[in-house]
Amino acid sequence: MSLHHLITDRIRASGPISIAEYMTECLLHPQYGYYTTRDPLGRAGDFITAPEISQMFGELIGLALAQCWIDQGRPPAITLAELGPGRGTLMADALRAAASVPGFTKAAHIVLIEASPTLRSLQQQALAGHDVTWTDSISDLPEQPLFLIANEFFDALPIRQFIRDENLWRERRVGVQDGTLGFGLGTPMPQPGLAHRLADTADGDLVEHCAPLTAITESIAARIAAHGGAALIIDYGDWRTLGDTLQAIRDHAPVDPLIDPGQCDLTAHVDFEALALAATPCQYTRLTPQGMFLERLGITNRAQTLAKSLSGPHLDEMVAAHRRLTHPEEMGNLFKVIGLYPAQAAPPPGLNP
Ligand code: SAH
Repeated sequence: MSLHHLITDRIRASGPISIAEYMTECLLHPQYGYYTTRDPLGRAGDFITAPEISQMFGELIGLALAQCWIDQGRPPAITLAELGPGRGTLMADALRAAASVPGFTKAAHIVLIEASPTLRSLQQQALAGHDVTWTDSISDLPEQPLFLIANEFFDALPIRQFIRDENLWRERRVGVQDGTLGFGLGTPMPQPGLAHRLADTADGDLVEHCAPLTAITESIAARIAAHGGAALIIDYGDWRTLGDTLQAIRDHAPVDPLIDPGQCDLTAHVDFEALALAATPCQYTRLTPQGMFLERLGITNRAQTLAKSLSGPHLDEMVAAHRRLTHPEEMGNLFKVIGLYPAQAAPPPGLNP
């Protein structure tokens, strides 16, 4: 049995499924899901993320969150949480750097929200020596100040796609034809959740909607508004997405998203406007390119300090990592950062209101 078989059987039995249902099966199926069965990260995996490129990324994020904690009067008991922590590299680097801020790590109860058992065990190794709690759901987080990081988490959440048909919408679905998975369109229906998109779209335009993005953001924002804290959310995407951004990656190259379910990473661009709208009653910062954010946090100084003890290929690697994280032609512009913070508090460092 393969996931391809399971999905085609299910569609034959009960009809086409939404792209969200397809993504959920592909990424998180308990037996065959992409994240459930492997560690996809790093050069040997399918894709590489910022914390795996350089320790500087996690260090600067850790110090930025510690600065938010200082700015908010050093609350004595906080949750330090990460959504989708991958190999645990970012959190390990953040904790090492933030250990230089007296009291911060002592105040922090570390919580990781992770669906994959494979990645949970890697996180456990990366964070050996720290007291860590794992949970499946953001709603399990305690009611106390929340300092949260999410890097390339929201892009893995399942989206639905809709094509405008006059003032109605046809959902793009996954069906089966001659034993092969293919996209089709549902019948035109009203979609109250997309009412605001009637103003900026034309007949035939495709829009995406990510229901879990709204639910998760509301949960984070409610805690930050009630108890204090901050969230740094980093991902690729833009302010209001338009068009098909569903993407499959295998071995660092794009492939057809329907070709091999469970064997490739599936993502969609994050709609930061939808995220910001769900973040009330918090404040949110301007959407800021990752390169600019890291420069403002001092990545170049940090790179120069690290470079002093390096030579040869190690030095070249450091220079390449700095460029990859910050340069507009690499990750610098493609990835964006938004910060959530309580009313009356200062925005997180590196971000403007
Ligand atoms: N933040 C990491 C990993 C990004 S990959 C990094 O930057 O390297 C996406 C991560 O989100 C993985 O850890 C994956 O297992 C996790 N994930 C994906 N969907 C999830 C969900 N619905 N709930 C919890 N974790 C999820």
